[in-house]
Amino acid sequence: MNETTSSSANFIQAIIDVDNRNGRYDKRVHTRFPPEPNGFLHIGHAKSIYLNYGLAEQFGGKFNLRFDDTNPLKEEQEYIDAIIEDIGWLGADWEDRLLFASDYFEQLYVYAVDLIKKGLAYVDDLSADEIRQYRGTLTEPGRNSPYRGRTIEENLDLFERMKAGEFPDGVRVLRAKIDMSSPNINFRDPIMYRILHAAHPRTGDDWCIYPMYDWAHGQSDSIEGITHSICTLEFEDHRPLYDWFLEKLDIYRPRQIEFARLKLNYTVMSKRKLLRLVNAGYVDGWDDPRMPTLSALRRRGYRPDAIRKFTELVGVAKSNSVVELSYLEHTVRDDLNQFAPRAMAVLQPIRVTVENYPENQLEEFEVPNYPQDKENKETRVVPFSRELFIEQEDFMEDPPKKFFRLAPGREVRLLGAYYVTCNEVVKDEAGNVVELSCTYDPESRGGSTPDGRKVKGTIHWVSAPHAVQADVRLYDTLFTQEFPEAGGEGTDFTDFINPNSLRILTGCQLEPSLADATVDDRYQFMRQGYFCLDPVDSSPERLVFNRTVTLRDTWTKIQKKG
Ligand code: ATP
Ligand code: MG
Repeated sequence: MNETTSSSANFIQAIIDVDNRNGRYDKRVHTRFPPEPNGFLHIGHAKSIYLNYGLAEQFGGKFNLRFDDTNPLKEEQEYIDAIIEDIGWLGADWEDRLLFASDYFEQLYVYAVDLIKKGLAYVDDLSADEIRQYRGTLTEPGRNSPYRGRTIEENLDLFERMKAGEFPDGVRVLRAKIDMSSPNINFRDPIMYRILHAAHPRTGDDWCIYPMYDWAHGQSDSIEGITHSICTLEFEDHRPLYDWFLEKLDIYRPRQIEFARLKLNYTVMSKRKLLRLVNAGYVDGWDDPRMPTLSALRRRGYRPDAIRKFTELVGVAKSNSVVELSYLEHTVRDDLNQFAPRAMAVLQPIRVTVENYPENQLEEFEVPNYPQDKENKETRVVPFSRELFIEQEDFMEDPPKKFFRLAPGREVRLLGAYYVTCNEVVKDEAGNVVELSCTYDPESRGGSTPDGRKVKGTIHWVSAPHAVQADVRLYDTLFTQEFPEAGGEGTDFTDFINPNSLRILTGCQLEPSLADATVDDRYQFMRQGYFCLDPVDSSPERLVFNRTVTLRDTWTKIQKKG
């Protein structure tokens, strides 16, 4: 546990430091993460989770997971299960405090009755449209509902009958009685309850009135003894209402603190929009590796450590800004670079025959798994034979001067093995290059020759008879526009879907050690990026690898230029 005098890395830590110094909340720190189970969690949620969980960890406090399950029309058990799995994967430990706002429906009802009795809430019969008209605008005050003057007895009676199911959906609501002319629209008699004859994933048909977010949220925080209720900036204007309810009920008062939500370029983050992508089939489900959801990033090969590191690096701010997607990828690359063993995989193969290499001869080369790490001497064995595959891209029949890979008459180094020279190009009837005929220099074993001959290019390769076949999926951003939601008049974010966001390569040829890959493994396919098995579609009969991230670090490039 840190001392309360610790230097605060962000403004929320600073607030907690001050609270602790003043003895507020008896120096307790108790945070919560309150997801609405109406979709899968995304990386923005991870920021909120690690912020809340991290503060609890840092101050020796507690962290609750509380589902904000107050709208049965949009919420589903599937989402509850997925959210629990994702937060568990992130490693944010709620211990035995898996909680639900619906656990407090009875208590919230009692609180509402208390407000009615204090003359601070009333039943309104205006329709939803009328309520909107009466509310006024930012520049015009609202008007009182004709039902605002109902007596306490009448309100108690009607509210009880709302609960008992006497009225159809939408005909009545319970509203707080505050101030229809307040400059803060949230104060213009906000709705506390609406009638909804809908089954709830947890409470079934017990209730036909459901609390609104603003009513349920603060009171749930209070019931749980939350100290610092951290939410995103759009709730700043709701804070006076959060405080008003707690004050009028005269119950324990947590404090709400707002921070800027995480935004990424080339990404949409709202659950409503992600749901549209899923429903319209732009992606293959919530966990499609192109999505910003946690289940997608997990499937793509991101580790929770990298996500946590990223959320800490971007920090906690009080004003909105956009973080570069390339910075997230940079963090993921950094994380994987530490421990992903290297392997050779030819994604778009072309066959090479080494004419002067004896048929049926086999050599085994011992190559380092972690060439970047001087401490780690672990190696593996890769077989070499007369028939090889190399990358189509590593050969050009008519190359420019600066092309240092294979071409007719040119020599390259096969990584960890021999020098080879291309002598002849074999073409099919259509004129496509289908095979290369090469010779090798037996004296170049291990990467150099007695005559000290210089070879500029080094390429990766796989022995054909030993190769393992796989499909490989390469990903690009899901959108072609940096800000797909701001594409201009009359555009929709789906107009900017990247048609090339997924490329599937079949018939890739991998070194044989990759046959033993498990879903928990990560690899650097040399010169190609970081890869992992797709946990959904890969099987021993058909290996499918996802590229987690490329090797090219555009973020570092951007930094150098700037
Ligand atoms: P979305 O806009 O994606 O639908 P939401 O706010 O409706 O998100 P909730 O389930 O209500 O989703 O969010 C749970 C918590 O996560 C809230 O406290 C919310 O403020 C926080 N949160 C949501 N999106 C982000 C984000 N992009 N960055 C940081 N925190 C976020
Ligand atoms: Mg929300």
